[in-house]
Formats: sequence, C-alpha cells, structure tokens
Amino acid sequence: MTVSEILFVIAGLFLGFAFKGGMFLFLIPFAAVAFVLAWLNRPRLAGPNSQSATSLLPIITNKARGTTLNPVVAPDLRTEFRKENGMMNEPESALKVSQVWARANADINKGMANMMRAMKIVVPHVNSVVVFTQLDNPKEWGVRNFINDKEMSVNPCIRISENSGLVGKLFRDGVNRLLEGDLPSNKSLMYYADSTPVKSVVAVPIYNYNGVRVGALVMDSVYPNAFSDHVAQALLHIADSISMLDWKGFFSAQNHIALQRYSGLYNYQRKFFQTMTVKDIYKQIINYVKDNVGYDRLTILAMNQEKEASGRVVFCDGIDADQFNGRRFTLDDKGIFVLSLLRNRPIERSFSQNFNEYVPRLNDKEKRNLNLRQMFVMPIATEPDRSQAEIAICLENGGEMPYSDHEKELLKAFAGVAGFAYDRARKFEHGRDLAMRDGLTGLINHRTLHETLRSEKVRADRKKYNIGVLMMDIDHFKHVNDTYGHPVGDIVIKGIADAISGEIRKEIDVVARYGGEEFVVGLIETSAEGMLETAERIRKAVQKLVFDVKQSDPLRVTVSIGAFLVGPEFHDMKKAVSNADQALYRAKEGGRNQVIRFEEEDPNVMASKA
Ligand code: GH3
Ligand code: MG
Ligand code: MG
Repeated sequence: MTVSEILFVIAGLFLGFAFKGGMFLFLIPFAAVAFVLAWLNRPRLAGPNSQSATSLLPIITNKARGTTLNPVVAPDLRTEFRKENGMMNEPESALKVSQVWARANADINKGMANMMRAMKIVVPHVNSVVVFTQLDNPKEWGVRNFINDKEMSVNPCIRISENSGLVGKLFRDGVNRLLEGDLPSNKSLMYYADSTPVKSVVAVPIYNYNGVRVGALVMDSVYPNAFSDHVAQALLHIADSISMLDWKGFFSAQNHIALQRYSGLYNYQRKFFQTMTVKDIYKQIINYVKDNVGYDRLTILAMNQEKEASGRVVFCDGIDADQFNGRRFTLDDKGIFVLSLLRNRPIERSFSQNFNEYVPRLNDKEKRNLNLRQMFVMPIATEPDRSQAEIAICLENGGEMPYSDHEKELLKAFAGVAGFAYDRARKFEHGRDLAMRDGLTGLINHRTLHETLRSEKVRADRKKYNIGVLMMDIDHFKHVNDTYGHPVGDIVIKGIADAISGEIRKEIDVVARYGGEEFVVGLIETSAEGMLETAERIRKAVQKLVFDVKQSDPLRVTVSIGAFLVGPEFHDMKKAVSNADQALYRAKEGGRNQVIRFEEEDPNVMASKA
C-alpha cells in the first residue's frame, strides 16, 4: 500500500466518525488535511504530456542512492578487454590504455542512456529502464546502467543469479522476451531497493556480435498491462543497437590502443636511429619493455662481444633482481634463458608452484623463486635467422595467465627493430675503436689522448683541480727486439700496457699508447705527491713483470717515467706532455728505471735540451 492509499483510508475513517453521531464534527478539518495530503501523494499518471522531465543518469556512481556500496558492475561491459590486451600487471602505458578505454566507455554509456531515455519518453507509463550485464561469474548478472523516475530505487549493487527472480528467468530459460502485466509486487524483479509497486515488466536479452547472450534490457511500470507486444518488439531492436554500440566502442578503443602501441614501436625505431652505443641500445630496450609489458621480474642477457660462448645479465629489475644483476653465465649453463639465446628462439612456459618443476633461468646456483609462474623469453639477434642470438629479453610474472599473443607479437616486432639497431651500434663502436684505439694494447692512441686531455682540462679548470701527466718509455727496448724478436717485443708492450692500466683508476684516469713503446698517463684530480706515488707504483709494477720467453733466463724490463703536474694556471696540454717528455729524458739520462718530475727552472733540463 502506498502512502497516498493509507492517507485516503484515514481521511475516510475521519469522515465516517464525524458523520456518525454529530459529536465528532471537529474531525472534519483533519479529514480534509488527510485528503489533501493523499491527493498530493497520488501516483502520478505518466501520460505523454504529464510526464515529468527525467534527469539523465549515464553512469552509475557511488552517489546513487547515497550508498557507500560500489555498484557490482564497473561501468563497462568488457572486462575481457584487459585479457585481450594481455595486461598481467600494470606497465606504465596501462595508464594511457585505461584513458582510451574510459573515453570509449563514456561514449558507449552516453549512447546507451540516450536510447533508454528515448524509450522512456516514447513509451507511456515507464518507471525504470535497466540494462543488465553478465558478471565474472557467467551465471550472475549486475546492473550496468539505468534510468528511473524520481527516487533512484533501482539498486545498482544487486547481483541477480540465473536461478532467482523474474529477470533470472529470462537468463535461465533463454526466452527471447518476457512480458508481464499484472505482477503482485516488485519482489520478483529483485533489482529494486525499496517497494516501488511495479505491476508491468517487459524484458529482452542483449546478444553480442557472436550471438552470445551478454545482458538484458528491462523496462517496468507501476501500471498494470502497461506494455504491449509492440513495445517488446521495439525493445528487441534497442537491445540490438545497444549491443552494436558496445561492440563498436570496444572495437574502436582496441584499434586506438593497437595504433598507439605500434606508433610507440615506430617511435623506438626513430630513437634507435639516434642511438649509437651498445650501452644506450640496452637502455632503450629496457625502457620499451618497461613501458609496454607487465612483469614481476625483467632480466636482460647479452652475449659477450669478445669472449665467445659466454655472457652476462646486463639488467635485472623486480623480484630477486640483485641476485641476477651482473651475473655471468656460459652457454654450457643451459638455463632456460640461456637456451633461448643459444637457439635464437622465443621460449614461453607456465610453471606450477611445485619445487620439482623449477627450471633454472641461468644455472643451478641461482636463487629459486617458485612464485614466478609465467615466463616469456624473446631473443634479439643482429640478423633474424642467425642460429644464436645476442640479447634476450626475459619476462617473468606470478600471475595465473600466460603472456598473451598480443604481448608476444609486440615484443617480436620490437626484437626485429632492436636487433638491427644493436648490430648498427656494434659496428659503429667497432669502427670508432679502430680509429681511436691501438690494436695491440687496446689503449687510446696519440690523437685521442690529446682530445681527451683537452676536454679533461676544461673540466679540471671548472672544478679547480690538477692533472698529472706521466710520460714513460721502455728501457733498452731495442735490445729486447734484437734478442728475442719483434713478436716477443709486442708481448712485452702489451704486458706493460696492462700493468699500467692496473695501477690507475679505471674510468677516471686515462692511458694512451703514445708511440711504439711509449705510454702517456693522465691522472685526473691529483696532487704532486699523488702523481709521483702513482708513477712510482707503475715503475715497480713493470719491474716485477716476468715474461716467459722459453729461454733459460726469464725476461724482465723496466721503464723510465717523466712527470709533470698541470696546475690551474697552466693551459697548454700539448706543452704539458712535452714537459713530461723532457723529464723522461732526464730519467733516461739519470740511469733509467726511475721517475723524474719536471721543474720549470731546472737548469739541467734546459741545458740538456740545448
Ligand atoms: P731507451 O732506454 O733509450 O729508450 O732505449 P730503447 O732501446 O728503448 O730506445 P728507443 O726508445 O728509441 O727504442 C725504440 C724501439 O722500440 C725502436 C723499435 O724497434 C721498437 N719498437 C717501436 N714500436 C714497436 C712495436 O710496436 N713493437 C716492437 N716489437 N718494437 C717496437
Ligand atoms: Mg722510445
Ligand atoms: Mg725505449
């Protein structure tokens, strides 16, 4: 019974009492008030002209009904979208993907709401129009979108199972329409939060493009026999349009995202063209994978360029990353990552959480993690059909779902682009090394030394520190050549180059093969004492070297070293090298195998020069 019905009854009772003996005449005004209230609360006849303007409710929000409950259905019909796009966990690009999808979804919702509103305007006496959609559980349905009069009594949080209610019947029996004109109450409808006195309902299923039932369109009224079969037929067409709208929206969002993905690939191709060094290629690969594919652990392996059949982990991010970062491996290790490199073939595996099923990634010594259940390894080769790859992108995650075709295709396309770029960078570096470095010792050459010293000097002036320059020459080297032959001489030169490199700071100090058996060292940010100490260390290190020349006496050599400290007031680095050379001359004169520091006013140097 509605409020107005109760009030009418009360008004009638008052009147009855009032007229029954005349002694209750004072009740007449009360009866009048009850009557007026009842009239104001009467159910409004929703005829075409009397219908009140309905506000548009495109998307269900938490504000609906002032409840803190979340609607059971997120405002999109396509939860499988994420599956199709293969997002295991969220890579950075997922943000853009979700934006595209949110926009498409808003469009779909708007179109759907417009159609529902049109139905409500055209069909007389409609109370609510509701679209249901299938939930994760295929036997359950939730409210996706609705429009109703006045109070929002439709409960957006309802889950309707196949076995319950009138709408459930539609799903269960697979009938293609449901038309009821004299319902005893709205209880059987299940989707009302209060007791709106619904009498009529018309409902049709929504089929997707594959003919699979994905939802239902339901319309109801508080009036008996409000809907004709014509209305049911019209509703079927609307349901069809809703399905089409949804599919088109879904499809265009997917296209949009695919386009974004492939334009991302194109961008990387461009970036690769500006990338010249192998190290930067690794960086680009890491960035791309991070942006486009989800993972719990990302490992990137690279084969050694010089040493065959071995490689190292150049990057690892995620679970137990410190266990893998920088690890070396050989091709005999036969870990599954290594196998992919060795065969230049992508490998994908899903593992159970069973210890016996663990497959080593690099080798047996690594830390095992049974939570990483999915794996996909994409090798990168300089040429696609090489028997062995140079780099491997190894993805792992703990999810239930294997990496999707979409992700694998994307990585495959990327691997082709990256392989080409890697090859180019390697060749570039090789050519650059040929021009910059000495082939025997691997040290930089005469020309590169001067370039390096010049730029180091600019930095030294800005930061206000000294550069120490050492010039050294092997003692009596002609004798070595004459006695043991040129090839042995070469071995000695290489040995001394390594000894010098071992005594200076890697990546900071510079060392060059300056001439045949002459070397120059630039000590960055040093003092006079520091410079002389290092020079002395080098001299001693060379002295300790023993070359096995397959003769009775092992070969030993020494070096003489000239040193010059470049302070802030000194700017000519060529002059600095020649000053060190002058000091070297004195070291030779002074008996060899010693370090002599250059001093400007040194009369001996001047004299010997003259
Ligand atoms: P000193 O102690 O005065 O330096 O005597 P030295 O015999 O070492 O004299 P010098 O420095 O003038 O010797 C240079 C010799 O080094 C000449 C050349 O035969 C030899 N040499 C230069 N470059 C190479 C090279 O690449 N390989 C070999 N095996 N010998 C070289
Ligand atoms: Mg010499
Ligand atoms: Mg010499």
